Formats: sequence, C-alpha cells, structure tokens
Amino acid sequence: MHETELKIKVFGAAILRKKAQPIKFVTLEHRKLLSQMAQTMYTDTGIGLAAPQVGIGVQLVVADIGQGLYKLINPRIVKRQGQQVIKEGCLSVPGICIRVKRAKRVWVEALDEDNKMVKIQAQDLFACVLQHEIDHLKGKLIVDYASLLEKIKIKRKLAALKITSRSCDLKI
Ligand code: ZN
Repeated sequence: MHETELKIKVFGAAILRKKAQPIKFVTLEHRKLLSQMAQTMYTDTGIGLAAPQVGIGVQLVVADIGQGLYKLINPRIVKRQGQQVIKEGCLSVPGICIRVKRAKRVWVEALDEDNKMVKIQAQDLFACVLQHEIDHLKGKLIVDYASLLEKIKIKRKLAALKITSRSCDLKI
C-alpha cells in the first residue's frame, strides 16, 4: 500500500488542518508506515514527523533528536511543566521559522508498535518536538503561534507555499 516513498505535504494542503484519527489496534501496515515515516524524516533531516504531514490522517508520530528513534501511536500529553521558547521550523512549512512558547517538560502517553502503553518524560528540545508533532495531529501548525509582526513578515512566503501546494495537487 505504501511502498513508494512518502511525500511531505506543504502548507495549504487540507490534510494538515484536519484532526488525525486515533488508532484502535496497531497493525503491520502501521508499523510499515512508521518505518517509512522515519526514513522520510531522516532523508529530509527532520527531527520529527507526524502522519498528516505525509498525507495520512492517523495518529502516528516519529521523532529522533539524535538520541534514538521514537515511534509513537496515539501520543497525548498528560502533564506539562515550565516554559521555553524555541525557534521552530517545520518540514510542512519550509523556509519559515517561528518562535514558539511551549512547556519545558512534558509527560506523554502513547502506544508502541506492540500495542503496549508507553510513558515518556521529555524535556527541552525533545519536549518541544513532541509538542510540535502532537500539534500536527490536531491540525495545528507553527504559523498559528506567530506574533502579529511575524505574521506580517511571513505572509508572502505563506501565500507562495499555498500556491505551490495547490499546483502539486493538480493531476495533469
Ligand atoms: Zn511540523
């Protein structure tokens, strides 16, 4: 089903704004998809990727900040602590950086590939990445955190991205 290489959806694609569906039971297909997502993330030198970014509306996330690969199913934040501001980019919003205020520490619950519940405590960059990816599952993007000034600055770039993503959908 997903034998071909995954393609990153860019700002303007409707799937990026939709809520991803939870997965009831992790199957071989999901495991395959997670592996392909990890490959895509490494190829594009990302440190996190959520399924909606490759056009699939399910709650799958991969992340690796250089300390090992995490494959998470239905991840949710159960506790937050502190605050941090990191300048974030996003594979789906290329060329744009936004200062995002998030929790410094998060506790996340998810399923692993074997349908077992896992609990992760993350801080600093890893906490930032997990919050960013969980946002993707809710249809939220870094541009939603932009200040008024940042919004003005990125307006043209976003409009250009929207046109690019639209023309990509044209099957001609
Ligand atoms: Zn992103």
